[in-house]
Amino acid sequence: MARNRAFIFLGPPGAGKGTQAKRIAQSCGLTHLSTGDMFRDAIRRGSALGRVVQPIMERGELVPDDVVMKMVEERLSQPDCAKGFVFDGFPRTLPQAEGLDRILERSGFGKLVVVDLAVGEDKLMRRLTGRRTCSVGGEIYNVYDLPPKVDGICDNDGGKLVQRADDTAEVVKQRLAAYERATKPLTEYYRRRGVLHVVDASANMDEVSRALGEIVKRAEGRNGHL
Ligand code: ADP
Repeated sequence: MARNRAFIFLGPPGAGKGTQAKRIAQSCGLTHLSTGDMFRDAIRRGSALGRVVQPIMERGELVPDDVVMKMVEERLSQPDCAKGFVFDGFPRTLPQAEGLDRILERSGFGKLVVVDLAVGEDKLMRRLTGRRTCSVGGEIYNVYDLPPKVDGICDNDGGKLVQRADDTAEVVKQRLAAYERATKPLTEYYRRRGVLHVVDASANMDEVSRALGEIVKRAEGRNGHL
């Protein structure tokens, strides 16, 4: 019996998709798939893909759909995705959503479950410009809302905390504009298909995690409908 183990977290940059997707993946035994992390990894490794996407990301624009889809399709074919996965930062355009539908039709993941992490624009700037990431393990902090115990150092592994190159005020504006234009229409796309849940992501991290955990558990417990 196919279980519903294919999740998407939608929401604007700064909604907390990365933090929440990592937590849920760990607690529910899903593979966390962040297209943004995959691209940053390619840039770090200096691969051909990394060289293509680096200037695009630095401007806060979207990577072309064909480049994204090729990477995603390859990633989904790897064995660790068979247990189920949660996408964070993908799909970001209508063609990407349609491409994912085609891939899922051929697989046995059951029904797609989409969660929109909704949060007002006023909170986003503070969350994005305050964000710091561990350069070793990738844990996410926020200097205002979720500070580490020691300034600039990861609580888990002592790694140095760094700011993402695209978290500057100027680039954040571009990313929010790209979200409004290309990604926001996806909530309507999924709502019409009856697979959309909306969670208030302006609540504190633990409350949001609890709400998401319940959605995941409920979705897995049922087949065919939410
Ligand atoms: P955020 O959601 O906070 O903007 P991400 O790490 O998800 O951060 O994405 C960072 C950047 O990577 C985006 O601004 C974009 O340039 C690129 N990117 C990531 N995922 C996609 C995607 N699915 N389609 C197009 N571009 C993407």
